[in-house]
Amino acid sequence: MDLAKNDMRLFSGIAASPGIAVGNLRTIDRRCARVDEYIVGQEGVAAEIERLKGAIAKTRVELETLKDHLISSTGDEHLFFIDTHLMILADERLFTETAAFIESGLINAEGALRQTIHRYREFFAGIEDVYLRERISDVETVIEKILCNMTGKAQAPISHDGTQTIIATHDVSPADILQMDRSRIIGIITEIGGTTTHTSILARAFELPAVAGVEGITDLLLDGSPVILDGLSGKVVVNPDRETFLDYLQRKRHYEYVESELLKAAVLPSETLDGHHVLLKGNVEVAEEGESVLRHGGEGVGLYRTEMLFMNRVAMPEEEEQYQVYSAMQQAIRPHPLTIRTLDAGGDKLLEGVVRVGEQNPAMGMRAIRLALSMPDEFKKQLRAILRVSAAGRVAVMFPMISGLEELRRARALLEEAKQELVQAEIAFDRNIRVGIMIEIPSAVVIADLLAREADFFSVGTNDLIQYSLAIDRSNEHLADMYQPLHPAVLRSLRRVVDAAHEAGIEASICGEMAGDPLFLPILLGLGFDELSMVASSIPRVKRLLRRCTIERAREITAACFGFSEASEVDLYLKSAITGSFEVSFD
Ligand code: PEP
Ligand code: MG
Repeated sequence: MDLAKNDMRLFSGIAASPGIAVGNLRTIDRRCARVDEYIVGQEGVAAEIERLKGAIAKTRVELETLKDHLISSTGDEHLFFIDTHLMILADERLFTETAAFIESGLINAEGALRQTIHRYREFFAGIEDVYLRERISDVETVIEKILCNMTGKAQAPISHDGTQTIIATHDVSPADILQMDRSRIIGIITEIGGTTTHTSILARAFELPAVAGVEGITDLLLDGSPVILDGLSGKVVVNPDRETFLDYLQRKRHYEYVESELLKAAVLPSETLDGHHVLLKGNVEVAEEGESVLRHGGEGVGLYRTEMLFMNRVAMPEEEEQYQVYSAMQQAIRPHPLTIRTLDAGGDKLLEGVVRVGEQNPAMGMRAIRLALSMPDEFKKQLRAILRVSAAGRVAVMFPMISGLEELRRARALLEEAKQELVQAEIAFDRNIRVGIMIEIPSAVVIADLLAREADFFSVGTNDLIQYSLAIDRSNEHLADMYQPLHPAVLRSLRRVVDAAHEAGIEASICGEMAGDPLFLPILLGLGFDELSMVASSIPRVKRLLRRCTIERAREITAACFGFSEASEVDLYLKSAITGSFEVSFD
């Protein structure tokens, strides 16, 4: 089809960072990837290997220089990704595998690097965990930089032409996002990536709308065209016609109006009409998100997922590095409390070289607390780092995927050892640090009364609890309809957990996605949860509904929900009850 330059084009991708941006498209091809592969013969091999070495060394110097620059301009809390890239560069296999391709194929270094990236792509594509799969983007960024150094083509910084610019590019590195003029560059479209890449996380932290996974957009010669980027639905419209343009303008205004109204109300107390207070907190992965939690009206962090720090590396981070990273988070959120969850990761791909590889069923494999308990010295490094941060403010530690008392006791014993080591080293920490557990395995629900005697608080991980209770893989899009938060088994589990917690005099919170969806609020409130922790941008919507509820009405609604025996019935009833009682609709 031969489309005229000005025809409207619609693209669909992945909604990577919310918001609607309207501007001019600027296509940037930062790939030096379009390099030829050719035979150099046996006599050329040594020279190609030298070129490869030289380009890797040059890339390392560049990254270190960039790191120094960013430390002085933006502070060091953004630097986790450069460390990730340096780590990839330091991995011997990058060099040895590429050199092996040069030697076996008698080809140039650029061609060999292409083959290396293919191999990495294949490896990452086979990884089930979405987060880990998307780490390929970091590897690609590093290899691009090496290629650029080899071909002598410099990667120019991403710029704008003075107008409100939306960038379309194959991929964009987190460093690009930090360096770009974000007053002019108002949206990002990438051909690859997904919601959990470092780039998307930073885009969300900076509230820069983004759509990822729009294949082929940079090949279409659309430079300079007007474009609408909808980071809420993952749609991109190039050359919108008048009607579409006006429609999106309207949506943009509406979105921004609702967001600003919600934000204004975000500072109001999170309590019901009859004065019942429920703590609303944020879930975070990097320190950048701390400020956003506070701005959205969060009263602390209820779930700090520490996995990010452990990704893409051949060795575990040392205690000092962990301490620095957790401290940055604590500083971002203080004086509010911070709950740090210990490493919740699974096996081989993540910690390659450190733990056993190749599990058939990673969701039920060597993961989370099991993994931590299997390497006590590494686990204690993390515990000491967390304890050290506790000296500076209200910090709690939380263990993921506890299935029974043995695990909790062993984890607590290691925590005690970590405390003793700090005492001996005369390092300060909070001796009364609170120790919580995540309830996300059905066995933990069943013995919640026993666990409640030995934990200081519960936090329900509904994402996993639903998956394990209903035997529905949470990341399988084909089963999405069967993933039912309102399944009677899930509701009864929640009730059991909160009751067991309160009988033992400890608090119960929820930090799974259920906490951030206003639809579930009356039930969570009616059941008596003390705290809800969610992605920062959900806090204002949940707070708005909370402030329209009374605890009495929430309890009535909850009681009615327990009268149904199918999730779909509960869903129907809940929507109409909320709409009827609190003027919030779910269309
Ligand atoms: C959960 O399972 O609900 C949870 C919060 O943990 P994660 O999503 O990190 O597994
Ligand atoms: Mg979980």
